Amino acid sequence: MEYSPSAKELSHFPFLKKSQDHIKGRFATLDAVLKDKRGEALVERALARVQDAITPKKTFTPDVSGTPEEEIAAYALARIIVSCVNDRQVIDRLTRYEAERAYYFLVHEEDWNQSYKQGDGEYSRLCIVLAEELGIRITQDKMPFLDYVEMVAPLHDDRFHLVNRRVERGFVTIKKEERYELVRERVRMLLRRDLPHKVPASLCEKISPKVAQIKKAYQEQMLEQFGAVEESAFPPCMHALIKALTEGANLTHAGRFSLTSFLHTIGMDVSGIAAMYARSPDFDPEKTMYQVEHITGRGGSGTEYTAPACAAMRTTGLCLHKDPLCEKVSHPLSYYRTKKRDAKNRPKKAEEKPADIPPSPST
Ligand code: SF4
Repeated sequence: MEYSPSAKELSHFPFLKKSQDHIKGRFATLDAVLKDKRGEALVERALARVQDAITPKKTFTPDVSGTPEEEIAAYALARIIVSCVNDRQVIDRLTRYEAERAYYFLVHEEDWNQSYKQGDGEYSRLCIVLAEELGIRITQDKMPFLDYVEMVAPLHDDRFHLVNRRVERGFVTIKKEERYELVRERVRMLLRRDLPHKVPASLCEKISPKVAQIKKAYQEQMLEQFGAVEESAFPPCMHALIKALTEGANLTHAGRFSLTSFLHTIGMDVSGIAAMYARSPDFDPEKTMYQVEHITGRGGSGTEYTAPACAAMRTTGLCLHKDPLCEKVSHPLSYYRTKKRDAKNRPKKAEEKPADIPPSPST
Protein backbone atom coordinates (compact mmCIF):
# COMPACT_ATOMS: atom_id res chain seq x y z
CA MET A 1 0.00 0.00 0.00
CA GLU A 2 1.37 3.40 -1.01
CA TYR A 3 1.60 5.62 2.05
CA SER A 4 0.64 9.19 1.12
CA PRO A 5 0.01 10.98 4.40
CA SER A 6 -1.28 14.52 4.76
CA ALA A 7 0.97 17.20 6.27
CA LYS A 8 -0.94 16.92 9.53
CA GLU A 9 -0.42 13.19 9.64
CA LEU A 10 3.27 13.66 8.93
CA SER A 11 3.44 15.86 12.01
CA HIS A 12 2.10 12.91 14.03
CA PHE A 13 5.07 10.85 12.87
CA PRO A 14 7.78 13.50 12.48
CA PHE A 15 10.64 10.97 12.52
CA LEU A 16 9.65 9.51 9.14
CA LYS A 17 11.85 10.36 6.20
CA LYS A 18 8.73 11.64 4.43
CA SER A 19 8.15 14.10 7.28
CA GLN A 20 11.71 15.37 7.21
CA ASP A 21 11.56 15.70 3.42
CA HIS A 22 8.32 17.63 3.79
CA ILE A 23 9.98 20.49 5.70
CA LYS A 24 13.16 20.57 3.62
CA GLY A 25 13.65 24.09 2.27
CA ARG A 26 10.82 25.55 4.35
CA PHE A 27 13.10 26.83 7.09
CA ALA A 28 16.36 28.74 6.89
CA THR A 29 19.62 27.16 8.12
CA LEU A 30 19.74 26.40 11.80
CA ASP A 31 22.05 29.34 12.51
CA ALA A 32 19.67 31.71 10.75
CA VAL A 33 16.58 30.17 12.39
CA LEU A 34 18.00 30.95 15.82
CA LYS A 35 18.30 34.63 14.98
CA ASP A 36 14.72 35.57 14.15
CA LYS A 37 11.43 35.69 16.04
CA ARG A 38 9.97 32.71 14.22
CA GLY A 39 13.07 30.72 15.13
CA GLU A 40 12.77 31.72 18.77
CA ALA A 41 9.18 30.47 18.80
CA LEU A 42 10.33 27.18 17.28
CA VAL A 43 12.99 26.75 19.95
CA GLU A 44 10.37 27.42 22.63
CA ARG A 45 8.14 24.80 21.04
CA ALA A 46 11.03 22.32 21.01
CA LEU A 47 11.84 23.16 24.61
CA ALA A 48 8.25 22.49 25.64
CA ARG A 49 8.51 19.13 23.92
CA VAL A 50 11.60 18.18 25.92
CA GLN A 51 9.99 19.45 29.09
CA ASP A 52 6.94 17.28 28.40
CA ALA A 53 9.28 14.37 27.81
CA ILE A 54 10.97 14.67 31.19
CA THR A 55 7.66 15.07 33.05
CA PRO A 56 6.49 11.72 34.46
CA LYS A 57 2.82 12.13 33.49
CA LYS A 58 2.23 12.74 29.81
CA THR A 59 -1.03 13.41 28.06
CA PHE A 60 -1.33 13.53 24.31
CA THR A 61 -4.14 15.26 22.50
CA PRO A 62 -5.14 14.98 18.84
CA ASP A 63 -4.87 18.73 18.28
CA VAL A 64 -1.47 20.27 17.99
CA SER A 65 -0.98 24.00 18.10
CA GLY A 66 0.87 25.56 15.20
CA THR A 67 1.32 24.24 11.70
CA PRO A 68 2.37 20.66 10.92
CA GLU A 69 5.64 22.05 9.55
CA GLU A 70 6.39 23.83 12.83
CA GLU A 71 5.60 20.64 14.70
CA ILE A 72 8.04 18.62 12.61
CA ALA A 73 10.72 21.30 12.96
CA ALA A 74 10.20 21.38 16.74
CA TYR A 75 10.74 17.63 16.84
CA ALA A 76 14.10 18.05 15.08
CA LEU A 77 15.10 20.96 17.33
CA ALA A 78 14.17 19.00 20.45
CA ARG A 79 16.65 16.34 19.37
CA ILE A 80 19.33 19.01 19.02
CA ILE A 81 18.57 20.39 22.48
CA VAL A 82 18.89 16.98 24.16
CA SER A 83 22.08 16.32 22.22
CA CYS A 84 23.52 19.51 23.74
CA VAL A 85 22.24 18.45 27.20
CA ASN A 86 24.09 15.21 26.47
CA ASP A 87 22.63 13.28 29.36
CA ARG A 88 21.70 9.69 28.60
CA GLN A 89 18.60 9.79 30.81
CA VAL A 90 17.24 12.94 29.21
CA ILE A 91 17.87 11.47 25.76
CA ASP A 92 16.07 8.28 26.80
CA ARG A 93 13.14 10.32 28.09
CA LEU A 94 12.78 12.13 24.78
CA THR A 95 12.97 8.97 22.70
CA ARG A 96 10.37 7.27 24.90
CA TYR A 97 8.17 10.33 24.67
CA GLU A 98 8.37 10.38 20.86
CA ALA A 99 7.62 6.66 20.71
CA GLU A 100 4.61 7.07 23.05
CA ARG A 101 3.36 10.02 21.05
CA ALA A 102 3.57 8.07 17.79
CA TYR A 103 1.80 5.16 19.49
CA TYR A 104 -1.01 7.47 20.58
CA PHE A 105 -1.56 8.72 17.04
CA LEU A 106 -1.17 5.27 15.56
CA VAL A 107 -3.84 3.82 17.82
CA HIS A 108 -6.26 6.69 17.17
CA GLU A 109 -5.50 7.50 13.56
CA GLU A 110 -7.77 4.80 12.20
CA ASP A 111 -10.68 6.36 14.10
CA TRP A 112 -10.04 9.64 12.36
CA ASN A 113 -9.06 8.31 8.97
CA GLN A 114 -11.40 5.61 7.71
CA SER A 115 -9.12 4.73 4.80
CA TYR A 116 -6.81 3.02 7.27
CA LYS A 117 -9.50 0.65 8.49
CA GLN A 118 -9.17 -2.88 7.24
CA GLY A 119 -12.42 -4.49 6.06
CA ASP A 120 -12.54 -7.12 8.76
CA GLY A 121 -11.39 -4.64 11.37
CA GLU A 122 -8.59 -7.01 12.29
CA TYR A 123 -5.69 -4.71 11.79
CA SER A 124 -4.89 -1.17 10.84
CA ARG A 125 -3.40 -0.46 7.44
CA LEU A 126 -1.55 2.45 8.97
CA CYS A 127 0.21 0.16 11.41
CA ILE A 128 1.36 -2.03 8.55
CA VAL A 129 2.60 0.82 6.36
CA LEU A 130 4.27 2.55 9.27
CA ALA A 131 5.99 -0.68 10.20
CA GLU A 132 7.20 -0.93 6.60
CA GLU A 133 8.51 2.64 6.69
CA LEU A 134 10.40 1.76 9.87
CA GLY A 135 11.88 -1.38 8.35
CA ILE A 136 9.86 -3.92 10.35
CA ARG A 137 8.85 -6.98 8.40
CA ILE A 138 5.50 -7.46 10.02
CA THR A 139 2.56 -8.98 8.20
CA GLN A 140 -1.02 -9.21 9.38
CA ASP A 141 -0.35 -11.43 12.34
CA LYS A 142 3.19 -12.71 11.97
CA MET A 143 6.74 -11.56 12.23
CA PRO A 144 9.96 -13.33 11.17
CA PHE A 145 11.51 -15.11 14.15
CA LEU A 146 14.91 -13.34 14.05
CA ASP A 147 13.36 -9.87 13.69
CA TYR A 148 11.09 -10.64 16.60
CA VAL A 149 13.90 -11.79 18.87
CA GLU A 150 15.93 -8.66 18.15
CA MET A 151 12.99 -6.34 18.73
CA VAL A 152 11.71 -7.75 21.98
CA ALA A 153 15.13 -8.08 23.64
CA PRO A 154 14.72 -4.82 25.63
CA LEU A 155 11.08 -5.55 26.56
CA HIS A 156 10.51 -7.02 30.00
CA ASP A 157 6.89 -7.96 29.71
CA ASP A 158 6.50 -11.74 30.05
CA ARG A 159 4.04 -11.73 27.15
CA PHE A 160 6.89 -11.12 24.74
CA HIS A 161 9.14 -13.92 26.01
CA LEU A 162 9.55 -16.59 23.38
CA VAL A 163 8.34 -19.32 25.72
CA ASN A 164 4.97 -17.60 25.75
CA ARG A 165 4.72 -17.24 21.96
CA ARG A 166 3.52 -19.41 19.17
CA VAL A 167 6.33 -19.98 16.69
CA GLU A 168 5.56 -21.64 13.38
CA ARG A 169 7.81 -22.15 10.36
CA GLY A 170 10.16 -19.35 11.33
CA PHE A 171 7.40 -16.85 12.19
CA VAL A 172 6.11 -15.61 15.54
CA THR A 173 2.38 -14.94 15.86
CA ILE A 174 1.51 -11.35 16.83
CA LYS A 175 -1.81 -9.94 18.02
CA LYS A 176 -3.20 -6.65 16.74
CA GLU A 177 -2.45 -4.57 19.83
CA GLU A 178 1.03 -6.11 20.02
CA ARG A 179 1.78 -4.87 16.52
CA TYR A 180 1.20 -1.35 17.81
CA GLU A 181 3.47 -1.99 20.74
CA LEU A 182 6.20 -3.38 18.51
CA VAL A 183 6.00 -0.36 16.23
CA ARG A 184 6.31 1.85 19.32
CA GLU A 185 9.38 -0.08 20.42
CA ARG A 186 10.88 0.17 16.94
CA VAL A 187 10.39 3.95 16.95
CA ARG A 188 12.09 4.19 20.33
CA MET A 189 15.01 2.05 19.20
CA LEU A 190 15.57 3.93 15.95
CA LEU A 191 15.35 7.35 17.56
CA ARG A 192 17.66 6.33 20.39
CA ARG A 193 20.23 4.89 17.99
CA ASP A 194 20.79 8.27 16.33
CA LEU A 195 21.22 10.26 19.54
CA PRO A 196 23.10 12.24 20.65
CA HIS A 197 23.72 14.10 17.39
CA LYS A 198 27.15 15.60 16.89
CA VAL A 199 26.08 19.20 17.38
CA PRO A 200 28.81 21.85 16.90
CA ALA A 201 29.85 23.40 20.21
CA SER A 202 29.10 26.88 18.82
CA LEU A 203 25.47 25.88 18.25
CA CYS A 204 25.11 24.38 21.73
CA GLU A 205 26.56 27.62 23.05
CA LYS A 206 23.84 29.62 21.29
CA ILE A 207 21.08 27.65 22.98
CA SER A 208 22.95 27.22 26.27
CA PRO A 209 20.26 28.97 28.40
CA LYS A 210 17.70 26.44 27.11
CA VAL A 211 20.10 23.58 27.74
CA ALA A 212 20.66 24.82 31.31
CA GLN A 213 16.90 25.10 31.79
CA ILE A 214 16.40 21.46 30.81
CA LYS A 215 19.26 20.28 33.02
CA LYS A 216 17.79 22.13 36.00
CA ALA A 217 14.26 20.90 35.34
CA TYR A 218 15.48 17.33 35.01
CA GLN A 219 17.49 17.50 38.23
CA GLU A 220 14.40 18.82 40.04
CA GLN A 221 12.33 16.02 38.53
CA MET A 222 14.82 13.48 39.77
CA LEU A 223 14.83 14.88 43.29
CA GLU A 224 11.06 14.90 43.31
CA GLN A 225 10.88 11.37 41.97
CA PHE A 226 13.52 9.77 44.14
CA GLY A 227 12.90 11.77 47.31
CA ALA A 228 15.18 11.21 50.30
CA VAL A 229 18.05 8.82 49.70
CA GLU A 230 17.32 5.37 51.13
CA GLU A 231 20.26 3.03 51.13
CA SER A 232 18.05 0.04 51.97
CA ALA A 233 16.45 0.35 48.51
CA PHE A 234 19.76 0.32 46.61
CA PRO A 235 20.11 -2.47 44.07
CA PRO A 236 22.45 -5.38 44.87
CA CYS A 237 25.14 -4.10 42.48
CA MET A 238 25.39 -0.80 44.39
CA HIS A 239 25.39 -2.58 47.74
CA ALA A 240 28.25 -4.72 46.44
CA LEU A 241 30.25 -1.65 45.42
CA ILE A 242 29.68 0.05 48.78
CA LYS A 243 30.64 -3.14 50.61
CA ALA A 244 33.83 -3.46 48.56
CA LEU A 245 34.61 0.17 49.33
CA THR A 246 34.02 -0.29 53.05
CA GLU A 247 36.26 -3.34 53.08
CA GLY A 248 39.08 -1.34 51.56
CA ALA A 249 39.00 -2.84 48.08
CA ASN A 250 40.25 -0.61 45.30
CA LEU A 251 37.23 0.03 43.06
CA THR A 252 37.86 -0.05 39.33
CA HIS A 253 37.21 3.09 37.33
CA ALA A 254 33.93 1.57 36.09
CA GLY A 255 32.96 0.77 39.68
CA ARG A 256 33.61 4.30 40.92
CA PHE A 257 31.87 5.75 37.92
CA SER A 258 28.77 3.57 38.34
CA LEU A 259 28.45 4.21 42.06
CA THR A 260 29.05 7.95 41.83
CA SER A 261 26.71 8.53 38.91
CA PHE A 262 24.02 6.41 40.58
CA LEU A 263 24.27 8.34 43.84
CA HIS A 264 24.28 11.63 41.98
CA THR A 265 21.18 10.77 39.95
CA ILE A 266 19.15 9.77 42.98
CA GLY A 267 19.84 13.19 44.44
CA MET A 268 22.84 12.75 46.74
CA ASP A 269 24.95 15.88 46.77
CA VAL A 270 28.70 15.97 46.25
CA SER A 271 29.56 16.02 49.96
CA GLY A 272 27.16 13.09 50.59
CA ILE A 273 28.87 11.09 47.86
CA ALA A 274 32.30 11.96 49.22
CA ALA A 275 31.10 10.82 52.67
CA MET A 276 30.17 7.47 51.12
CA TYR A 277 33.74 7.12 49.81
CA ALA A 278 35.02 8.10 53.25
CA ARG A 279 33.90 4.63 54.41
CA SER A 280 36.96 3.32 52.63
CA PRO A 281 39.99 2.78 54.90
CA ASP A 282 42.28 4.42 52.32
CA PHE A 283 40.00 7.39 51.62
CA ASP A 284 41.79 10.18 49.77
CA PRO A 285 39.57 13.33 50.10
CA GLU A 286 41.27 15.34 47.35
CA LYS A 287 41.27 12.59 44.75
CA THR A 288 37.70 11.63 45.64
CA MET A 289 36.39 15.18 45.34
CA TYR A 290 38.10 15.57 41.97
CA GLN A 291 36.54 12.37 40.62
CA VAL A 292 33.10 13.05 42.09
CA GLU A 293 33.00 16.60 40.74
CA HIS A 294 34.05 15.39 37.32
CA ILE A 295 31.31 12.75 37.14
CA THR A 296 28.62 15.05 38.50
CA GLY A 297 29.43 17.77 35.98
CA ARG A 298 30.99 20.29 38.33
CA GLY A 299 34.54 19.71 37.26
CA GLY A 300 34.59 22.14 34.35
CA SER A 301 33.45 19.88 31.51
CA GLY A 302 29.79 20.55 32.38
CA THR A 303 28.94 17.00 31.33
CA GLU A 304 26.79 15.15 33.83
CA TYR A 305 27.06 11.42 33.54
CA THR A 306 24.21 9.11 34.39
CA ALA A 307 24.44 5.67 35.91
CA PRO A 308 25.00 2.79 33.46
CA ALA A 309 22.11 0.48 32.65
CA CYS A 310 22.11 -3.17 33.73
CA ALA A 311 23.43 -4.30 30.33
CA ALA A 312 26.49 -2.06 30.72
CA MET A 313 26.92 -3.17 34.34
CA ARG A 314 26.98 -6.78 33.17
CA THR A 315 29.63 -5.97 30.56
CA THR A 316 31.90 -4.43 33.18
CA GLY A 317 31.33 -7.32 35.60
CA LEU A 318 29.56 -5.10 38.11
CA CYS A 319 26.15 -6.75 38.03
CA LEU A 320 26.47 -8.79 41.22
CA HIS A 321 24.12 -10.68 43.53
CA LYS A 322 21.02 -10.27 41.37
CA ASP A 323 17.72 -10.78 43.17
CA PRO A 324 14.20 -11.42 41.83
CA LEU A 325 13.47 -7.72 41.34
CA CYS A 326 16.48 -7.49 39.01
CA GLU A 327 14.61 -9.70 36.53
CA LYS A 328 12.00 -6.98 36.11
CA VAL A 329 14.26 -3.98 35.53
CA SER A 330 16.84 -2.90 33.01
CA HIS A 331 18.42 -0.12 35.04
CA PRO A 332 19.69 0.15 38.62
CA LEU A 333 17.71 3.38 38.90
CA SER A 334 14.48 1.57 38.04
CA TYR A 335 15.34 -1.01 40.68
CA TYR A 336 15.80 1.71 43.28
CA ARG A 337 12.63 3.56 42.27
CA THR A 338 10.54 0.37 42.34
CA LYS A 339 11.90 -0.88 45.65
CA LYS A 340 11.38 2.47 47.28
CA ARG A 341 7.84 2.72 45.99
CA ASP A 342 7.02 -0.85 47.07
CA ALA A 343 8.39 -0.21 50.55
CA LYS A 344 6.24 2.91 50.80
CA ASN A 345 3.08 1.09 49.69
CA ARG A 346 3.60 -2.00 51.83
CA PRO A 347 1.32 -2.00 54.88
CA LYS A 348 3.26 -1.75 58.08
CA LYS A 349 3.58 -5.03 60.00
CA ALA A 350 2.35 -5.08 63.58
CA GLU A 351 5.89 -5.22 64.91
CA GLU A 352 6.77 -2.12 62.87
CA LYS A 353 4.19 -0.04 64.72
CA PRO A 354 5.76 2.48 67.02
CA ALA A 355 6.24 0.92 70.43
CA ASP A 356 4.10 2.17 73.28
CA ILE A 357 5.97 4.53 75.50
CA PRO A 358 6.71 2.67 78.73
CA PRO A 359 5.40 4.33 81.87
CA SER A 360 7.86 6.52 83.62
CA PRO A 361 9.53 4.74 86.61
CA SER A 362 8.40 7.57 88.85
CA THR A 363 4.66 6.93 88.21
S1 SF4 B 1 20.37 -6.56 37.32
FE1 SF4 B 1 20.74 -4.38 37.25
S2 SF4 B 1 20.02 -3.64 39.22
FE2 SF4 B 1 20.25 -5.84 39.45
S3 SF4 B 1 22.31 -6.13 40.26
FE3 SF4 B 1 22.46 -6.27 38.02
S4 SF4 B 1 22.95 -4.22 37.37
FE4 SF4 B 1 22.20 -4.05 39.45
